[in-house]
Amino acid sequence: MAGFDYDLAIAGGGIVGTLLACALRDSGLRVALIEARPRTAGLSRRQAYAVTLLSGKIFQGLGLWQEILPKITTFCQIRLSDADYPHAVRFLPEDLGTEALGYVAEHNVIMQALYECLDNSPNITELCPAEVVQAHYQPDGVELQVKVEGETRLIRTRLLVAADGSRSPIRQEAGIRTRGWKYWQSCITCVVQPEKEHGSIAYERFWPSGPFAILPLPGNRCQIVWTAPHAEAKAMADLDDGAFLTELSRRYGDQMGKLSLASDRYVFQVQLMQSDRYTLSRLALVGDAAHCCHPVGGQGLNMGIRDAAALAQVLLQAHQKGEDIGGLKVLRRYERWRKLENLTILGFTDFLDRCFSTNWLPLVIIRRLGLWLMRTLRPLKYFALRLMTGQTGRSPQLARH
Ligand SMILES: Cc1cc2nc3c(=O)[nH]c(=O)nc-3n(C[C@H](O)[C@H](O)[C@H](O)COP(=O)(O)OP(=O)(O)OC[C@H]3O[C@@H](n4cnc5c(N)ncnc54)[C@H](O)[C@@H]3O)c2cc1C
Repeated sequence: MAGFDYDLAIAGGGIVGTLLACALRDSGLRVALIEARPRTAGLSRRQAYAVTLLSGKIFQGLGLWQEILPKITTFCQIRLSDADYPHAVRFLPEDLGTEALGYVAEHNVIMQALYECLDNSPNITELCPAEVVQAHYQPDGVELQVKVEGETRLIRTRLLVAADGSRSPIRQEAGIRTRGWKYWQSCITCVVQPEKEHGSIAYERFWPSGPFAILPLPGNRCQIVWTAPHAEAKAMADLDDGAFLTELSRRYGDQMGKLSLASDRYVFQVQLMQSDRYTLSRLALVGDAAHCCHPVGGQGLNMGIRDAAALAQVLLQAHQKGEDIGGLKVLRRYERWRKLENLTILGFTDFLDRCFSTNWLPLVIIRRLGLWLMRTLRPLKYFALRLMTGQTGRSPQLARH
């Protein structure tokens, strides 16, 4: 341990990096969490996520669920439909044998709970705002140059975890290649307030231009996640509020009455990306730094939460056995666990988007047959639900209680 300031340093204090730090409290490991933006940025980010049952269990395992659950929506129905085709597939908790199908949580609610956890974890040092500007990898550790309040500090750690988002400067600097593509679609998000009760129902509606999701939020608000070809998305984003709401209502339908805008509109580039490796000696990638997917099905953050829980478990077990937590032998256990599972989800979201974002008649017939089969065959519905709610693959111990 001599000569090391920390056992591990996490670069990036978004939800995934901060959750990893929290999962390592009480581990006996000295953890540095380095985040470029101040906490106020984390608490003011306007984004809501579909949170799977498994992610909910991980928050439960961390002891944060009592703090989060009263401030989020638990949805008890998902309606999946193909454009105007009237026969929607309705997923209910009894199809899965659970009490709920998932949750919708806002970024600030999750971050607030994670920050409280950090504040009560003496083994975690939070450097924020602070930026990792360079990493020098050595056989036994990593030397980091960290910019804090205009000064550059040198930090030595046995392991660096990159949780620094999809562009991950750390991944790029380490020479880890990625595979994937940018979609022909962009994603518009906003929050609306419908006139009628949303009834805690989540909708995923597939238009030929792209998937359109309505996620119920507390206070009878709804998060819209709307993908459309770039030009169409830009045109929608440029409309004035009235014209935008008219276009939105055409996709949304009239089941919830008149809509009013309750937030600004944001436009995101959509991409699929998988890193060739999640680990090198002294380096591990988690969350969007390792992979990104299309927002259909709301899986991106959930994959990152699972990465963080899995890596924490691998590191904890290695530390208890006296192994070197930054050694490739230990880190490969995490990579073997998560890489293939994430690839399955990336493939699933890509399949959904390509299969539904088209008017090509043979595919329209096949997918409507698929939806009919899903309405009729319970095992098929059960399998789709298990995949969407994070019940497939290996569960981290944090989620088993
Ligand atoms: C439109 C849209 C809708 C989505 N909806 C859903 C959904 O419903 N459900 C879902 O599961 N997922 C969803 N996602 C995906 C989800 O937003 C991401 O997967 C998730 O936010 C990634 O979290 P992260 O912590 O890995 O990365 P980020 O949130 O990008 O955090 C990275 C952090 O690293 C910091 N950082 C970067 N460089 C450095 C550095 N050098 N030093 C220090 N700090 C640094 C940044 O400041 C940032 O805070 C959606 C994505 C989009 C675009």
